[in-house]
Amino acid sequence: MTFETVKQVRVRYVALIGNPNCGKTTLFNALTGLRQKVGNYPGVTVEKKEGRLTLAGNSEATLLDLPGTYSLNATSPDEKIATDILLGRAEHTQRPDVVVCVVDASNIERNLYLVSQILDRQIPVVVALNMIDVAEEAGIEVDVKMLERELGVPVVATIANKGIGINELKESIANAQSRTAQKRPWSMPALVEEECGELVGLLQQYHKLNENSAFDEALTLLTSPEALEEHRDRFAPELLAHVQKDHERLDFMGIDRQSVVVEARYEWIKSVCGKAVTQAQTSALSTSDKLDRVFTHRIWGFVIFVGLMALIFQTIFTWATVPMDLIGEGFDSIGNHIHEVMPAGDLRDLLINGGLAGVAAVVTFLPQILFLFLFLGLLEDTGYMARAAFIMDRLMSKVGLHGKSFIPMLSSFACAIPGIMATRTIESPKDRLVTMLVSPLVSCSARLPVYALLIAAFIPHDHVLGFLSLPALTLLSMYLLGLVMALSMAWLFKKTLLRGAAPLFIMELPPYKLPSLKSVLLQMWERSKLFLKNAGTIILGVSIILWFLATYPRVEGVTPAEQLQHSFVGKAGQLIEPVIKPLGFDWKIGIGIIASLLQREVFVSTMGTIYNIQNSDDESGSLSLQQQMRNDIDPETGLPVWTALTAICVMVYYVLAMQCMSTLAVLKRETNSWKWPLFQLGYMTALAYVVTFVVYRVGLLWGFGV
Ligand code: GDP
Ligand code: MG
Repeated sequence: MTFETVKQVRVRYVALIGNPNCGKTTLFNALTGLRQKVGNYPGVTVEKKEGRLTLAGNSEATLLDLPGTYSLNATSPDEKIATDILLGRAEHTQRPDVVVCVVDASNIERNLYLVSQILDRQIPVVVALNMIDVAEEAGIEVDVKMLERELGVPVVATIANKGIGINELKESIANAQSRTAQKRPWSMPALVEEECGELVGLLQQYHKLNENSAFDEALTLLTSPEALEEHRDRFAPELLAHVQKDHERLDFMGIDRQSVVVEARYEWIKSVCGKAVTQAQTSALSTSDKLDRVFTHRIWGFVIFVGLMALIFQTIFTWATVPMDLIGEGFDSIGNHIHEVMPAGDLRDLLINGGLAGVAAVVTFLPQILFLFLFLGLLEDTGYMARAAFIMDRLMSKVGLHGKSFIPMLSSFACAIPGIMATRTIESPKDRLVTMLVSPLVSCSARLPVYALLIAAFIPHDHVLGFLSLPALTLLSMYLLGLVMALSMAWLFKKTLLRGAAPLFIMELPPYKLPSLKSVLLQMWERSKLFLKNAGTIILGVSIILWFLATYPRVEGVTPAEQLQHSFVGKAGQLIEPVIKPLGFDWKIGIGIIASLLQREVFVSTMGTIYNIQNSDDESGSLSLQQQMRNDIDPETGLPVWTALTAICVMVYYVLAMQCMSTLAVLKRETNSWKWPLFQLGYMTALAYVVTFVVYRVGLLWGFGV
């Protein structure tokens, strides 16, 4: 093939492409100065991210961060987006003028595969040879000039997280279009080349394709077993007949059509690396490999995983109490202040018992949520998360899924929404659906306030197993219950609704490294903003509405507790009580469950509001929410409304029930139908009800009910 010189035009639209984890997002941040989340396991970059890039001469361009992909013919939704945009096939997105292909220097052979595909397409490209520090540490040395010569495109060495090589990269981007393209550097066995050449001719003749697209189509038609079937109606019959003959000839010659192109590319890559890359002989295992012997060990790996979780929950409880008390005191003094300066009346009640009580109940848990994110961030940034996925891979294959499905589940510890988005890296549509259906069973950060409130109020602060406290153990059990249920349901769905073979997957483990505190802190900061914004809008709104419903209609001359019974909320509560009574829940818990169908934290704010109203004119109104819940007596039976068993049952219910509208909305968007979100709502609620019922009954039998 021969190509003409591309004229120099202003570069306006630039895209970053590369294998997962090669540092695209980090490079994106370095190039644009734009803040965004940096994760280090595959599947984090799932959405389109754009930023502004200033090139030489102050010209501005748009930079696009594409999802990670290993090749241009990959099939997962994520990878397909990347390919489509690159080839100008994506709707509403123009084709980039220049592509920056990020190559992980410590993994250069595998990364060059994508480069070779981009070179075929004659797309103006700059190679950013990233992670040269990691490569160097591993004894890999790359001769950049030689690599540039071999590839025929500019190569710039970078260390994205230290900002090294960024200016050179910008310069290369600005000049990328002026280079002269050249001949395809790799070649296949002569017979395949010959047939490929004929097909290119026919494709140009019958379908008026340009040379690059014709070559790409020819390769697909020659090598892919399904391509012929799939494209029957797209191509001229003469052409299809020719392809059929080609297949027969190649098969007769014993050429493996499926692998011949891949092998040809790798052969070329090997020769390029032979010239440009030197690998120092290292006999000793790297530190990463040594650590992995323990962390990914069949048994120890699992023990360490559970141990780490236990340690995290233990720390969450001990470290967070100080800032939590401070926040609680802060809200108390605001309440007291309002109480003093405002005249008694509905407005004051609304402010204190409605708005403030609800918001305070939730915001108190901010420190615990922040600690959770601190630990999740550290685990992710050190590279441990990938190991967690790796050890879970063994379990996952038993339920018919692979480790790739565990990554969304790990994200779901933060929130099911990014978890569901992360399933876009899963190729099989059925496996993807199964993963989306079960990911919300993993305990997200919105459940933490519910667990934390109930554990603090009803689980004794005894010590078990040495360092571990009973509260931390309870919390660990809730998280494990969610995880076990997610795996069990995945197994069930794979056996019944969504049958399919367990896919093969080779997990890749990035080297361990010291976490970047900056990115972890940034993430915590973003989380707090989100959490506080939510408290100031949704939680506040729901609390105010709830206050009205719990205060009216007014009845004269009764105690606040009786007034609450007669309110709309009280009436509604009595209506649903028969449904939840078998679970050991009273009507207030029922109201909490209904209100928190919106999102789970609302349960906590609902308790805050309802208890404040109930106790608004006696001494106990000034007690903490935990105290008020402990003191609550059922007027009919004279027994406490809450026991440790009730608290555990409510927690179990929250582990399993689908109490999050946003997750359902995202599932609707991802599956494009209401069928699956409704199914998810139905099966999770039923599961929650049945399991809670069993726990309650068994608990009663064992005499835990008092
Ligand atoms: P992406 O999946 O391609 O977007 O990769 P990320 O940008 O999320 O990077 C993955 C991890 O590699 C992050 O923890 C980065 O901090 C880290 N990283 C990126 N570039 C470099 C580099 O040049 N050197 C080193 N040592 N780490 C890097
Ligand atoms: Mg990324």
